[in-house]
Amino acid sequence: MTVPGPATPSDVATWVRSLDLPGIVDMHVHFLPEAVMRKVWAYFDSAEEHYGIRWPVYYRTDEQQRLATLRSFGVARFAPLVYPHKPEMAEWLNTWVSQFAAREPDAVPTATMYPEPTASRYVADALRSGVRCFKVHVQVGDFDPRDELLDDAWGAIAEAGVPVVVHCGHGPLRGTYTGLEVFEGVLERHPRLVAVLAHAGMPEYVTALRLAARYPRVYLDTTMVGVEFTERLAPLPPDWSRQLVAVSDRIVFGTDFPNIPYSYDNQLRAIAGWAESEDALGETFLRSVLHDTPNKLLGG
Ligand SMILES: [Zn+2]
Repeated sequence: MTVPGPATPSDVATWVRSLDLPGIVDMHVHFLPEAVMRKVWAYFDSAEEHYGIRWPVYYRTDEQQRLATLRSFGVARFAPLVYPHKPEMAEWLNTWVSQFAAREPDAVPTATMYPEPTASRYVADALRSGVRCFKVHVQVGDFDPRDELLDDAWGAIAEAGVPVVVHCGHGPLRGTYTGLEVFEGVLERHPRLVAVLAHAGMPEYVTALRLAARYPRVYLDTTMVGVEFTERLAPLPPDWSRQLVAVSDRIVFGTDFPNIPYSYDNQLRAIAGWAESEDALGETFLRSVLHDTPNKLLGG
């Protein structure tokens, strides 16, 4: 029997335990230096200008409180993702997040990159230091992921088998280099890359599934996918659950906590809904998405 998900935020931890899981693994969470986080929140405060929609950040608390909230949901491990919007910022963020992950045992060390002459060097450093996950943000960074300044870095990440969460879809905003067909250029050169398509490629969900079918190391994350907020902007295809069956072991849990305009339980209800509506998914799928697959990718 499949459960339809937690009814409220305070039901999340109990619901997770009911699935016989030691906890959940959230592969798409953001922790940033305080000043950067404040700028991100200011951006969401004026979301109506950027996106034409209100985006009240739900978990707008200090860092310790955010960590406590995440843990209260039964999150056992998470990937704190950082990303630069300009040159000479990535390495600084990498240093910051490595210190953060060293302090917080449930945070896996992560890193990011930007097309700049130092990228291959600091990506190699990050891999040597034991980073378990990368994040690349094509829309915020406004760069071409196929830029030759990134080619060695992609190669090194692929070789190491370390997953990279890539925001390369058109949602919620188009960028100069967004679009899954652009990122496919990277996969063509580095077909062994373990790439996690953030937001399941939103709004090009079906193209994302097609990439996963073509490249066995391509995964999709659930971040903001299928929740009521997103369904109004970028709805899933009606047969989404059916389509997931073919790649059910390559879907990983992600949420965008804390920068989401709704509470955490919404994401879990969306995923539980997919599991429930398709017999071939069910609880096995939930355990895979919420724990087993992301845990494996993060080197669990
Ligand atoms: Zn994100």
